[in-house]
Amino acid sequence: MNAVNLLDFDLDGLAAYCEQLGEKRFRATQLFRWIHQKGATSFDEMSDLAKSLRAKLQGTAHISGLPVISEHVSADGTIKWLFDVGGGNAVESVFIPEDDRGTLCVSSQAGCAVGCRFCSTGHQGFSRNLSTGEILAQLWFAEHSLRKRFNTSERIISNVVMMGMGEPLQNYSALVPALKAMLDDHGYGLSRRRVTVSTSGVVPMIERLQRDCPVALAVSLHAPTDPLRDELVPINRKYPIDELLSACQAYLTAAPRDFITFEYCMLDGVNDTDAHADALVALVKGRIHCKFNLIPFNPFPQSGLKRSGMARVQAFARRLADAGIVTTVRKTRGDDIDAACGQLAGEVQDRTNAPSRMLRQPVMIKLAPSDTFTPPDRSGR
Ligand code: SAH
Ligand code: SF4
Repeated sequence: MNAVNLLDFDLDGLAAYCEQLGEKRFRATQLFRWIHQKGATSFDEMSDLAKSLRAKLQGTAHISGLPVISEHVSADGTIKWLFDVGGGNAVESVFIPEDDRGTLCVSSQAGCAVGCRFCSTGHQGFSRNLSTGEILAQLWFAEHSLRKRFNTSERIISNVVMMGMGEPLQNYSALVPALKAMLDDHGYGLSRRRVTVSTSGVVPMIERLQRDCPVALAVSLHAPTDPLRDELVPINRKYPIDELLSACQAYLTAAPRDFITFEYCMLDGVNDTDAHADALVALVKGRIHCKFNLIPFNPFPQSGLKRSGMARVQAFARRLADAGIVTTVRKTRGDDIDAACGQLAGEVQDRTNAPSRMLRQPVMIKLAPSDTFTPPDRSGR
């Protein structure tokens, strides 16, 4: 196997690599376009690259995606892929088609070390960070396989959310080049507003992201007070709510959107009372421009938690909205294939916790592809 996987590079990285081969930057741009815009897997098909360069690349580099373990298609058109990342680990990506956009939910780690109470990934423990190539391979594969599926050369994925398995800001050095490739006009050409990093609140890395690659930011808040958040999102013990909100305020000075999205998982009897809603209002009102996205808890075995009833979720949403905070309730997509938030379990060999942890086996069924999704017309953009 050749040493260098070209999926591991953003355009600057690829240009530096080409320079080592004695090639100019515009060659790297051509190569980058072949890989990400056309989905090329071999150098032979890159017809406008000089034969001599193709020969050099053949000896030193390769373009390798991740093996697909399974693909599940939901009745609502949501598609979930399970990718093998080696060593007994697997990660998941989910494509969510909507009328005006196609969103890919991407994983950043095999497992997660944060260990949130209500998250299936967190319950599995942490195995390892994904490389830039493994993060980008999810988008590269999804985009080009969807184009084949829908028989189009038009772009299908218009939005990326780093809301799959893992805490993206605990894998910062691999994350940033992957984001840059997503944004690059020679790569996927996604706008900064359409690429969202979701974090449990790794404060120093929010500050770095603001400088290095500001994209839309979602913050998993889940509680209005430190004692409750300490229990639900353990990283709060290191970076408490006040520090987190200050980092969010600062982020807005560079962010492509003028608000932060706060995600809030609705847990029956835990964080869903009127008093919790009022405390949230008091916390953010006049301090930070934000929207709330309420996510009804998606249960999984061994969580010991229950989803708030829909009437409670609606009442909570109304209370925030009445206080002037834009609030949405996230629609559950891909429920029938366990593709909803927090249900992405993949398969993880935990390297940090007790070996007795129950690992869920991936289900190897292939459902019939849904033909209900027509790629939206984006010619106007
Ligand atoms: N680690 C990052 C991104 C991945 S999780 C983060 O925590 O933000 C994406 C979103 O799903 C987060 O808001 C997370 O809190 C939420 N989530 C996790 N488990 C969930 C569950 N079981 N039900 C509903 N939402 C969940
Ligand atoms: Fe990790 Fe996010 Fe799950 Fe928390 S919610 S355990 S940070 S993936």
